[in-house]
Amino acid sequence: MRLEVLGCAGGIGGQQRFTTCLLIDHDILLDAGTGIAALGVNQLAAIDHVFLSHSHLDHVAGLALLADAVNGKRKSPITVHATQQVIDALRTHLFNWVLWPDFAAIPNADHPVLRWQPLEPGIALDLAGRQITAHRVNHIAGSVAYAACSTESGFLFTGDMGSTPPLWDVLARDRRLSRVIVDCSFPDAESQLAALSRHFCPRSLLEDIAALPASIEFLIYHLKPGQEDRIMQELNVAGGSRSFHALKCGDVFSF
Ligand SMILES: [Zn+2]
Ligand SMILES: [Zn+2]
Repeated sequence: MRLEVLGCAGGIGGQQRFTTCLLIDHDILLDAGTGIAALGVNQLAAIDHVFLSHSHLDHVAGLALLADAVNGKRKSPITVHATQQVIDALRTHLFNWVLWPDFAAIPNADHPVLRWQPLEPGIALDLAGRQITAHRVNHIAGSVAYAACSTESGFLFTGDMGSTPPLWDVLARDRRLSRVIVDCSFPDAESQLAALSRHFCPRSLLEDIAALPASIEFLIYHLKPGQEDRIMQELNVAGGSRSFHALKCGDVFSF
């Protein structure tokens, strides 16, 4: 299983320019932020599955543009996996013919561009040997993290989140998960804003993961523009022997 980071920024205008979008092999996206713009039209048309962590614009803006870009270029719908709450939010507020057309009814409801697929957290979905499992996290209604595994190894992508102690049990239950892509949006000086908006700052992240083995590699994503170096420095100073690296657009991993 190949993972390519198309976007991982917590906003535009910083060192990283594109918001959250991760490509698994050639056909699965985890989130569809503005990072999707890195793909050419044939690559866009090859996307069969999109898994959404939540409905915030920086994670779904590219889904709207993807639907438009591949209309008429595929034989089957793109399956969009998300919790029912996230699907309801997107159908009500985005794909409502006001902000964007309803691509689940274009060109017609029998053969649409997008197909909504509600998922059950905790139940693994197997897509040709790639197992993807959603786990609820503390952000907005319906938010989930995703564990993505091959037979040998895998990673956990938290999506946006604040403190969610039960999520970390997933790492103990599945030893294939050696890497974690985790939110750390704000520096410690903005800890109140982090808590209010249900994101991590270095202090709250380190508290949440204190019991985890040091062997797990943490790849930090969703850093707020202009704060990247400060957040990473705070993590590495306070994190002791733990390994923290800032995830970067263009990073490629094999699992
Ligand atoms: Zn969010
Ligand atoms: Zn976000």
